[in-house]
Amino acid sequence: MKHEHDQDVETLRQQLFKETGQISLRNHPHPSNITRSQSYKSESSQLNINHLNRILEIDTGHRRITVEPRVTMEQLVKAALEHNMMVPVIPEFRGITVGGAIMGGGLESASHRYGLFSDNCLAYEILLGDGTVVRATPQEHADLFYGIVGSYGSLGILLSIELELIPATPWVKLNYRTFSSISDTVRYFERIHGAISAPDFVEGLVFAPDHITIIEGSFLEVPETVPHSLSLKSPWDEWFYCHAKQMTEGQEEKIPLLDYLFRHDRGAFWIGSYGTHWSSIPRYLLESRFNLPSLAKLLPSFKPENFTGPEDPGPFFRFLWGWAMTSHRLYSWLHSKSEDWVADRFIIQDFCIPAENVVTFVTKIFEEIKIYPLWLCPTPISKRFQILSPHFLPASNSSFIVNVGVYGISPSSRSPSELIRQLEKWTQLAHGRKVLYSYSYYTPEEFWKIYPQHAYAKLRDTYHAQRWMDLDQKVLQDKLTK
Ligand SMILES: Cc1cc2nc3c(=O)[nH]c(=O)nc-3n(C[C@H](O)[C@H](O)[C@H](O)COP(=O)(O)OP(=O)(O)OC[C@H]3O[C@@H](n4cnc5c(N)ncnc54)[C@H](O)[C@@H]3O)c2cc1C
Repeated sequence: MKHEHDQDVETLRQQLFKETGQISLRNHPHPSNITRSQSYKSESSQLNINHLNRILEIDTGHRRITVEPRVTMEQLVKAALEHNMMVPVIPEFRGITVGGAIMGGGLESASHRYGLFSDNCLAYEILLGDGTVVRATPQEHADLFYGIVGSYGSLGILLSIELELIPATPWVKLNYRTFSSISDTVRYFERIHGAISAPDFVEGLVFAPDHITIIEGSFLEVPETVPHSLSLKSPWDEWFYCHAKQMTEGQEEKIPLLDYLFRHDRGAFWIGSYGTHWSSIPRYLLESRFNLPSLAKLLPSFKPENFTGPEDPGPFFRFLWGWAMTSHRLYSWLHSKSEDWVADRFIIQDFCIPAENVVTFVTKIFEEIKIYPLWLCPTPISKRFQILSPHFLPASNSSFIVNVGVYGISPSSRSPSELIRQLEKWTQLAHGRKVLYSYSYYTPEEFWKIYPQHAYAKLRDTYHAQRWMDLDQKVLQDKLTK
C-alpha cells in the first residue's frame, strides 16, 4: 500500500510541474459538504487526488491510523471499528473527507473533550507548491502543521495523515437533559468543561428559547444494561432531531455507534425537512433544475412571510423522500448548479463563539434570525498559533467556545445575505470566528483583521504556496448586491 501511495505522490508531483498558473483540487465523487459556490475552480488548473482514498496503516499497539486525504468519515470509522477503535472526533456527515475535515476545521459532539478533528492529527505529509513533499508534525515544520488547519487547501495539499485512535465500543448510551434557557445550558457546558466525569459525547439542540435538549452519549460496554434501542438505519426511520425533541429529562436509550456518529446525516441536520412543505420540492425542481421559473410562479410563494418553516418529516414524507435525504444526495443536488438558489433562501452557517458571549449571541438569534433548531457544540479554545482555525481566538478570555450551527430559512423580511452579514458582525463583537465552509460577506479588510494576514502571507511565502489559490479568493463572495 505504501509503495502505491508513493507512486501516486510521484505522479502528482509530475502533474504539478506540468501545470501552469494557479491550482485547486478537482471535485471528488462525494459531493463536497462546502455550501458556497466553487466557481473559482474554473479559474485554475485542477489537480486530481481522488484516488488518494486508502487506509494506509492501522497500528493498534500505538493507537494510530494513517490514511490518505480522500478517505471519508464512514470509511474511517468502519476501518478503525474493526479493531474496536475510532478517531476521537468524527464530523457528522458520512461523506466528509479527512482532508476536508482538516481544511474546514471539523468538529462534533466529542469536541468538548478532543477539540477539532485536526487536534487529533499527529502528522501530515504535504505537497508544497514547488513540488517538495514535507512531513509536518508539532516538532517539524510546526508553523505549517498548525497553520494548515482551516486553510482550505491554500497552503499545501495533504497527501497522507496520521491520526490518533481511542478505544470504542459498538454501542453508545444516550441520555437526554432538558433546559429552559440558554444561560442554564451554558452553565451546564461550563460544568462539564474539562471534567473527567464528562460524558464521551455532548451536543445541544435548541428547539425554542425555552426548549433546549442536551444529548449526552457514553460508550456502552454491556449493551444489555440498556433495554431500549434506537436505530436510524432505514430511510423511513424518524430523523434524529425529531426524536430528540420528544425526549424528556433523564430518558435513556442505546444506539449503534455508526448510527450515532452519523445521526444528523439524513436531512443534513434538519435542512431536508424544508422539503416537507408540499410546494418546496416542485419549486426547487422548476426553478433550479429545469429552469422553468414561469411555471414555478404558479406555486404558492416560498417567501418567508408565507412559509411557516419546516414541519418535522412524518412517516409519509419519510417513506416517499427518505431515500433522497442523505447528506450525499442533498449535496449532490446543491452542487448541480443550485448553490445560488440555496444561498438566496437558506442560512447555513456555523459560528464559534467564546463561552462568555454565547448567551448574548444566541439571544440575538432568537430575536432577529428565529431559525430553529440551532445546533450547539462545546469545544476547547486552541492554545496553539492556529492562525486560520475557527477555535483559535486570541482576543477571547474564555477557555472554550460553543459552536452555534444556524441551518434553515429565517422568517425575517431581510435577505439571507443581509442576515449573514449581521451574524458576522455579532460574531466579531463576540470575539468569535465563523467556519468558512459557507458564504462569507466580509470585505477583504475586515477578513484580514480577523485572520492575521501577515502570518498567513509568511506561511504562503515559506511554503511556496503561490501555486495554490488564496484563501480569500475561495471564501469571500460578493453576493450582497443580489
Ligand atoms: C449543514 C452543514 C453542517 C455542517 N456541520 C458540520 C459539523 O457538524 N462538523 C464539521 O466538522 N463540519 C461540518 N460542516 C462543514 C464540513 O465539515 C466542511 O465543509 C468540510 O470542509 C467539508 O469537507 P469535504 O470533504 O466535504 O469537502 P471538500 O470540498 O473536499 O474539501 C473542503 C476544502 O478542503 C480542501 N481540501 C480537501 N482535501 C484537501 C487536501 N487533501 N489537501 C488540501 N486541501 C484539501 C478543498 O480544497 C476545500 O477547500 C458542515 C457543513 C454543512 C453544510
